[in-house]
Amino acid sequence: MMNKKILFALIVVGLLAVSAVSAQNSLFLNNNNNDDSMYQVSLMQAFMHGEYNGVITVGDFKSHGDIGLGTFEGVNGEMIVLDGVVYQAAADGSINVVPDNETIPFATITKFDEDGNITNITAKNFDDLTGQLDKEIEKYGVNNMYVIKIKGDFSNITVRSVEKQEKPYKEFTDVAKVDQKVFNHTDQTGTLVAVYFPEYMNELNMHGWHLHFLSDDKATGGHVLGFNNFSGSGQIDEIHEFNMILPTDDTFVKMNFTEDMTNKISSVE
Ligand SMILES: [Zn+2]
Repeated sequence: MMNKKILFALIVVGLLAVSAVSAQNSLFLNNNNNDDSMYQVSLMQAFMHGEYNGVITVGDFKSHGDIGLGTFEGVNGEMIVLDGVVYQAAADGSINVVPDNETIPFATITKFDEDGNITNITAKNFDDLTGQLDKEIEKYGVNNMYVIKIKGDFSNITVRSVEKQEKPYKEFTDVAKVDQKVFNHTDQTGTLVAVYFPEYMNELNMHGWHLHFLSDDKATGGHVLGFNNFSGSGQIDEIHEFNMILPTDDTFVKMNFTEDMTNKISSVE
């Protein structure tokens, strides 16, 4: 039979061991500033296959965050969400604040919480910038999701928008071929909304970097195809949660997801 002193000592040792383990584990728990999740409407594969019916309203969507990107029912232009305002970069080149009753077929949004920043960025072009962003997120981990808000000046920037589609909807690769409008703007000051999804989320969304632009004067914007000579700074939101809402219409229910869409997705980035 164990005497009481030994039993007590064993309990104390046991408690110390438990607290040492939990102290160690806490290093691996989420300790960043984010209290939110990436909220996604539909999935890239469905969008690529021509699922452009609205899933939720802009009003509902905004309740899930204040920064993001996507598009509107029928691929009616490019969406940029900045500081809680949902903007449309329309195919005619105009920028419009979108009413709450407009609907969304595909988009992502999060509540921006700054977990880090990058000061004094200079980048020659798109690949130079995304290469630097890749290096930056290596510090935090390439398997997380990120939204980076990047503000600064561009000597020029090329953005695209897309014309609203009529039913029956064609696949997005065919839309991009014929109904894509490309705009070149010089001497722009504005914000890039840069969304990063890790490799393992390919086809659920675009893996890697997806950039939309909005100028400070709210006169130009869209899906970024390229730019030259950027200088500015950025704030990083590291994200560890993911919520996805699926379409419920017949188009989605009957859709076939066996095709490997990797090449099609990279062709429209
Ligand atoms: Zn885009």
